[in-house]
Amino acid sequence: MTSDTALPFLPFALPEIGEEEIAEVIDTLRSGWVTTGPKAKRFEADFIDFLGGPATGLEAIAVNSATAGLHLALEALGIGPGDEVITTTHTFTATAEVVRYLGADVVLVDIDPATLNIDPAAVEAAITPRTKAIVPVHYAGLAADMPALLALARRHGLKVVEDAAHALPTTVQGQLVGTLASDATVFSFYANKTITTGEGGMLVTRDAELARRAKVMRLHGMSRDAFDRFTATVPSWYYEIVAPGFKYNLTDIAAALGLHQLKRVEAFQQRRVAIARRYSEAFADLPLLLPPEPAAGDRHAWHLYVVRLADAAPLSRDVFIERLFQAGIGCSVHYIPLHLHPYWRDRYGLQPAQFPHSQRAYERMLSLPLYTRMCDADVERVVATVRRLLQG
Ligand SMILES: *Cc1c(COP(=O)(O)O)cnc(C)c1O
Repeated sequence: MTSDTALPFLPFALPEIGEEEIAEVIDTLRSGWVTTGPKAKRFEADFIDFLGGPATGLEAIAVNSATAGLHLALEALGIGPGDEVITTTHTFTATAEVVRYLGADVVLVDIDPATLNIDPAAVEAAITPRTKAIVPVHYAGLAADMPALLALARRHGLKVVEDAAHALPTTVQGQLVGTLASDATVFSFYANKTITTGEGGMLVTRDAELARRAKVMRLHGMSRDAFDRFTATVPSWYYEIVAPGFKYNLTDIAAALGLHQLKRVEAFQQRRVAIARRYSEAFADLPLLLPPEPAAGDRHAWHLYVVRLADAAPLSRDVFIERLFQAGIGCSVHYIPLHLHPYWRDRYGLQPAQFPHSQRAYERMLSLPLYTRMCDADVERVVATVRRLLQG
């Protein structure tokens, strides 16, 4: 693809890592504790403080990815062969693949075309006697309809595990995602998420039994983790294996990043909101469907800024993306719905007609760059390019 600009390429996403993060990583490297240790513990404690402190009754369990956290949460809830878990087709495969790890079946449902979040009515219609859990995704950082989903789950005796990979710091009726009445919530600290540890995640729950099981399964099914083993005063060499667990612990090197990223959530959020506002005001007159705003008083994490081309747009989505790349602007599509991927399509015999809203949104959508390291000139460059391409 040839470029029609002399400006450097503007990537779709970049992490913002500061000197404090770098110094903390160096301190970790010099400390001797490079794997799970005091910094991972402190990151968990700080995360609880961020969510409102120990009085919330929440526990945080640091893991090496959100995928790991989702797997641990569903495993601890006893999801297994014969069970069904309902989630949205409009997500990343990680949301659903963990259900298959456990031998249970995934039931994909369509989205609300206004919010692109899982449609509670579609969830209700998909419930069978085998249904055990719902996994909503707070798409792009806008909260799913949690009041409706939690009420539905209560009515049908279902568990709820929130995929909050996009949702730091999203709120619902003034409450942070992570503090709602679901069974567990899982955040991602992947490189392009609203805070990053390179790879990492946090499982948050009020369910003490779920937390106990997840902590054991996070590290090989050991009854005590390595940090306790080497620092406790009781015999340090003794442990018991109580299950064939996983290797999902977060390293102190990663947690070192997380400690400082977490302190910057508010500043990052303000920058993301400012960029989203600028885009929405600059694109208001274009043939674009702009991303929905959160309910009054609530927060959108603005992990993604997703626009959809209207019928009146002068070019197709694919050509639009190609022109943006030619102008040196990276963009992406979130997501190719799961029902279009060979594995999910073939395993469950899925057809696009079963998911008309996700299908239509997918065909017209793209995600524009939105990250804290974008300077105002970067934002204005995206604005000017999008306007030039869509005004014909
Ligand atoms: C990024 C992402 C995940 C997976 O997060 P990892 O930390 O990379 O495992 C899961 N669900 C959604 C919706 C995501 O965007």
